[in-house]
Amino acid sequence: MGAEGSDRGFPVRREWEFSRVKSREQTLGREPIKVGISACLLGQEVRYDGSSKREPFLVETLGRFFQLVPICPELEAGLGVPREPMHLVGDPANPRLVGNESGADRTRALSRFASRSAREIPRQQLCGFILKARSPSCGLERVPVVGKTGRTRRIGRGLFAGELLRRLPLLPVAEAEGLSDLAARDHFIVRVCGFGRLQDLFTGRCSRRRLLRFHAAQRYLLLAHSPPRARQLDRLVVDMKDYPAAGFRHEYCSRFMAILQVKTTTSKNVNVLQHIMGRLRKVMSPRQRQSLQRAIEDYRHELVPLIVPVTLLNFFLQLHDPAEVEEYLSPPSRELMLRNHA
Ligand code: SF4
Repeated sequence: MGAEGSDRGFPVRREWEFSRVKSREQTLGREPIKVGISACLLGQEVRYDGSSKREPFLVETLGRFFQLVPICPELEAGLGVPREPMHLVGDPANPRLVGNESGADRTRALSRFASRSAREIPRQQLCGFILKARSPSCGLERVPVVGKTGRTRRIGRGLFAGELLRRLPLLPVAEAEGLSDLAARDHFIVRVCGFGRLQDLFTGRCSRRRLLRFHAAQRYLLLAHSPPRARQLDRLVVDMKDYPAAGFRHEYCSRFMAILQVKTTTSKNVNVLQHIMGRLRKVMSPRQRQSLQRAIEDYRHELVPLIVPVTLLNFFLQLHDPAEVEEYLSPPSRELMLRNHA
């Protein structure tokens, strides 16, 4: 199939700008994506004792690709700096936030801010949130909760984090600590970028043609996460006429983000790589096919990271450009080290 044709009903782009040297805005495929972040992680001195928890990777690397929007729930709930340190008590599913010494109950102030802030997030167009671990406000999981017997168990969730998950279930959320793991970082960034693309797609009027083009470009990315769910989403797109516009949008976004929530595996990536290689078969020499196949096998046996066959494939795409591979093959930057885990 030539570069100007189409395959199985999916449109194919006519031109390919192969250069991966992109500006900050272009790097992630749109204007800078906004990501909320616990303010202390950015170096703001907003903790109870006036200190920060600056995370160099977030400030110096991630901050070059995303617009990080700092929020400190405790400060913005009016609790001031410095303030008495606090902890969670009671039912882990519905804990109260109290001062360590005074026992003063701050639940109401924090919860009010959390629900106001969570309502604001869609208006602010945030596409994800990075939270400080173990905080009784921001911690996502394993936050200490003191039960009725006085026993502390690490099974709680910060009040602000809980409100984010409750009100915005599709929003990608992660703890900063977890992002030091390359696979977790990759997974979070893929979800944030996917959320951003959905936001762009459905801002304003989205024609059927535009939706089809968008969906085609996500094809291999979705297959790398969940082939059965990706096929179900294909069927939803085929049946889109049966849905009212708002209903379709909700259904498409929910299913799309649910697919990205599923982790990729080596075998799913190998399948996708081989599919793409199959499509390039006609434009590759036997020798090129051999070297790509070897790189895929090395990746399968965890001898090289995914970025190796992906880079080779990107090279061969100078000759041939099916749009479906675009989101799968476009790791945003070397600095973020995406696709660098086995
Ligand atoms: Fe503020 Fe959250 Fe950091 Fe605590 S963990 S200082 S509430 S941003």
